[in-house]
Amino acid sequence: MQLNLSNRVAIVTGGASGIGRATAILLAQHGATVFVGDLRLLPENEARYAELGIRQQTCDVRNEADVRRLVDAALAASGGIDILVNNAGIGMVKQIPDVTEADWDACLDTNFKSAFLFSRLVIPSMKARGGGSIVNISSNAGLLPRAHDPVYSTSKGALNAFTHSLALCHAGDRIRVNAVCPGPVGDTGMMNADLAKAVNRAETAQMFIDASPLARAYGRMISPEEVAQAVLYLCSDAAAMVTGTAIAIDGGKSLGVPPKS
Ligand code: NAD
Repeated sequence: MQLNLSNRVAIVTGGASGIGRATAILLAQHGATVFVGDLRLLPENEARYAELGIRQQTCDVRNEADVRRLVDAALAASGGIDILVNNAGIGMVKQIPDVTEADWDACLDTNFKSAFLFSRLVIPSMKARGGGSIVNISSNAGLLPRAHDPVYSTSKGALNAFTHSLALCHAGDRIRVNAVCPGPVGDTGMMNADLAKAVNRAETAQMFIDASPLARAYGRMISPEEVAQAVLYLCSDAAAMVTGTAIAIDGGKSLGVPPKS
């Protein structure tokens, strides 16, 4: 029962779709009280979330006041926070000469600064409860930068560095801080947006699959649920001695060895 999260309170950002939704559901299925924050709340989640007791509210993770509102709601309803999953994120497929300052801020603030804003508010509660787990949803791009999305790669590399620093700073408080580095993950808003832009959707999907040795071997992308399983592990007592790691759920993509054709 080490994966049992009864009596644990969790915040999951970007929980309306994809990896965040799969994570919110899996943590709730293992007993956690889950609070989801997202830019938009989707009607199709309402019944499932109500059934699992998952509470959701709108929250722009770039906005300090919104972040505080979500943390305060969780504290008011549950008295403390044990788990924080910083999952909200956006892509940025542009070369540097084409990146505006607004693009840079949108990507860095959503993917990186948000983890600082949430961690800052949540760590005192975790300390008061004798420990906690923070999981930052990074990317294979945070382990091995990619040529097509330098700003996104930078945001995820920074998130990994933040993960390592925070893990060192708060081990004494029994607060564990880890990153999960996924990709390519199907059935997500991010992947669907990339495929929608493609001239040939099937060919582009196959290109994503081919870039990951295991995805290629299985002939499919990674699922949001497979990423959520790693998050569940990191949030649970099974990972009591695990901190400062960046676990790749990317089918070996970040090994940097292209699959044979
Ligand atoms: P997704 O688009 O389904 O999920 C992202 C969620 O974040 C959405 O629900 C979106 O509304 C929310 N969001 C975006 N900006 C926000 C903001 N400012 N405030 C609050 N919520 C906001 O895509 P996903 O793939 O599930 O993405 C989840 C995480 O996984 C992201 O951090 C992403 O970088 C990471 N990731 C995804 C892949 C992949 O292949 N899909 C690969 C590597 C990493």
